[in-house]
Formats: sequence, structure tokens, C-alpha cells
Amino acid sequence: AKGSGKNTWRFHEASLQVTAYENMMLKRDLREAIERGELSLQYQPLVDAQSGCVVSFEALLRWTSSEHGSVPPSRFIPLAEESDTIRKIGKWVIEEACRFARKLSAMGKGEIRVSVNVSPRQLVAGDFVAIVCKAIDRAGIKPNQLEIEITENALIDSLEDSNDKFRELRAIGVGLSLDDFGTGYSSLTYLRSLPVETLKIDKSFIDLIVSDEAQLQFISSIVDMAHVLRLAVVAEGVETKEQLEKLVKCQCDFIQGYLFSHPLPEKEAILYLDRLIAE
Ligand code: C2E
Ligand code: CA
Ligand code: CA
Ligand code: CA
Repeated sequence: AKGSGKNTWRFHEASLQVTAYENMMLKRDLREAIERGELSLQYQPLVDAQSGCVVSFEALLRWTSSEHGSVPPSRFIPLAEESDTIRKIGKWVIEEACRFARKLSAMGKGEIRVSVNVSPRQLVAGDFVAIVCKAIDRAGIKPNQLEIEITENALIDSLEDSNDKFRELRAIGVGLSLDDFGTGYSSLTYLRSLPVETLKIDKSFIDLIVSDEAQLQFISSIVDMAHVLRLAVVAEGVETKEQLEKLVKCQCDFIQGYLFSHPLPEKEAILYLDRLIAE
């Protein structure tokens, strides 16, 4: 862009300003999103690779703003993470997910877990464990109905502190999985020290397993290693039957992806369970 003269620079500057302004507006409106009832959760099923049964749902946040329309999490989560807004939103997500878990157990589906994504800034807050415990109590669910998903990168600055918190939560039964596995740093270090139960292999790896034999071998080795460490393995972003077949052959435990279902609003998620049972 440098070569094409002064105007290009001006253009870039202008668009940067627009983005900064837009970010500011999004951040402002995000602070009020809960009160305005603009946030909701959708639930994506994770299925057992062998039986096809739903074992859990991942709660995924949605924001439908009166000002900005439907804003994807990839856009607003990073903005929320720049301030304590993420703590407020994160707390709401945990409470809402526990409420959904309560609904499932009231329907006699209490063995199905609900997982939530937790940001680093939530994790380092002094009241994180208390927030989780309170949400579980208030909803009246068993701690093992809730699972927390964290990414490796979330732990870089606070491994020891986080580790203490996870041990506390694991001790009462809350689940813990390592999200986006393979995209962060020092995966092996974390795996050995954290009380993790489940690895979620990032979609970017799953995308390659059908076309690339070496990739398939790689995933297969990760699954083997995880099993040696007594961890369960989830494949994320599974979109085709071919991928599913390969993953079943690799002994991958659980499958998440559009092949089975997109993330669904609460009612549809419950219908999805019933449909499976009816089949
Ligand atoms: P993630 O935790 O890795 O969640 C999986 C993402 O992959 C979701 O995107 C899901 O809709 C998408 N996905 C699932 N299966 C497929 C598939 O087969 N193909 C494709 N192309 N995509 C698939 P989503 O809902 O847009 O969320 C994006 C990210 O935003 C999440 O990635 C997570 O990092 C973050 N996020 C979402 N909700 C929350 C939340 O409540 N709190 C925090 N801190 N982060 C959240
Ligand atoms: Ca996740
Ligand atoms: Ca993920
Ligand atoms: Ca991701």
C-alpha cells in the first residue's frame, strides 16, 4: 500500500478511525446489553463418537443489539475482554448455563453436561470460584453438570493462581476442558500440571485430516497421548462424514460440529435431544 501514494494512507487512516469509533460504540452498548435483554445463549451438542448420543452442550453467547444488529462473538468478546465488562457478561453466561442445566435435569436428562467458555480476565478475578459455586447452588444443579472451557493462552500469566482455582472446582466436581488445543503455547506443560479432563482439538486441525495423511497421523497420536494421560478428546468443527469416519478410527471420544448440529436456541436444543431419542 505504501507505493500507491498519499491517498492510500489517508484511506487507511480514515478506516482505522471508523473502526476505533465503531469499537467504542460497541463497547458502550455492550455494557447495557444484559439489562436490555440483548444477550442469549445457544447450545451446540457434543456427541459420543461411538454411540451418537448427546453427552453435553457447549453454551455459545449471542448478542442481538438494537443498534448494531446481530454481532458475532469473534467481534464483541475481544472488546468485552478489554474491560471488566467481560466479568459481568461471563457471570451472566455461567448463571444462564446453570439454569439450562437445571432444566435438563428437571426433564430427566441430568447426565448431560453444559459447558461455558471462560476468559482469562474472569479467571484471575478473586471471586471467580465463588461466582461459579453460587450459580450452581442457586440453580440447584450438581457441580458435575457444569464444565468450564479455557484456552491455553488464558493461562500464560496466571498458571499457578488458575491451577489453584481449578483444583478447588474440580474437587467439588466441576468439569474442566482445554479449548482450541494445539493453537496455543506449551500445550504439554499445561496438560501435565492442570486438572483437565478433556482436550478439545481445534477445528483448524480437523479440517486437514481428510486430505492429509500426515495430519491424520498427528491427530491420532494426540488422541493416544491424551488417553495415556486419561483425558477425553473432543474434535471441534466436524463438518463431514469423512471426517467423522477418520475420527472414529482414531478413537476420538466426542464430536462437535455442524455435521451433527449448529448451535441452537434453548428450545431447539431440547427438541434435538428428543428427536434423537425418538429415532
Ligand atoms: P469456541 O469456544 O472455539 O467455540 C466454537 C466455535 O466454533 C463457535 O463459534 C461455533 O459456533 C463454531 N463451530 C462449531 N461447529 C462448527 C463447524 O462445524 N464449522 C464451523 N465453521 N464452525 C463451527 P461462535 O459461536 O461464533 O464462537 C466463537 C468464539 O467466541 C468461541 O470459540 C469462543 O472463543 C468465543 N465465545 C463464545 N461464547 C463465549 C462466551 O460465553 N464467553 C467467552 N469468553 N467466549 C465465548
Ligand atoms: Ca469453547
Ligand atoms: Ca474451541
Ligand atoms: Ca476457537
